[in-house]
Amino acid sequence: MEDKYDTLMTVVVKEKPERGLLITKKPIPSELAEDEVLIKVNYTSVCGTDYHIYSYDAWAQKRLKLPFTAGHEFSGEIVKIGRSVSRVKIGDIVSAETHIICGKCEFCLRGEGHICENTKIIGVDTDGCFAEYVRIPAMNCFINSPDANPLHLSVQ
Ligand SMILES: [Zn+2]
Ligand SMILES: [Zn+2]
Repeated sequence: MEDKYDTLMTVVVKEKPERGLLITKKPIPSELAEDEVLIKVNYTSVCGTDYHIYSYDAWAQKRLKLPFTAGHEFSGEIVKIGRSVSRVKIGDIVSAETHIICGKCEFCLRGEGHICENTKIIGVDTDGCFAEYVRIPAMNCFINSPDANPLHLSVQ
């Protein structure tokens, strides 16, 4: 990625504590944690949550820490994997479970990750998919058939 234009990507950011979103440029993530993957986003969908983020309603004012890249419903292709990732590979077409669980709290350790007390949501608590690339834990990837209509893969 020496080319200057390849180091930046277009993103949709919730920047200010007011109504609206900002289309801007950000660096493409260059570092991955060992359990993360980098995905080239092909398609995204707009969810009701995104409307809360856009309008900056009471929920958003209480919940959000700005700034961050919005968006959590998407499909794309894995272009890079962290050191310890083995369940997905470069070239896989994936969509995502949007809840990132900690794997360490008492609920996660009991196999009840759905009620993890440290759950983070992609595009709410982490930089999301309204971007050319998104970085998420490999564990959150659903591997899709390369023959599936990619438009259908971004909706959850
Ligand atoms: Zn959603
Ligand atoms: Zn947990």
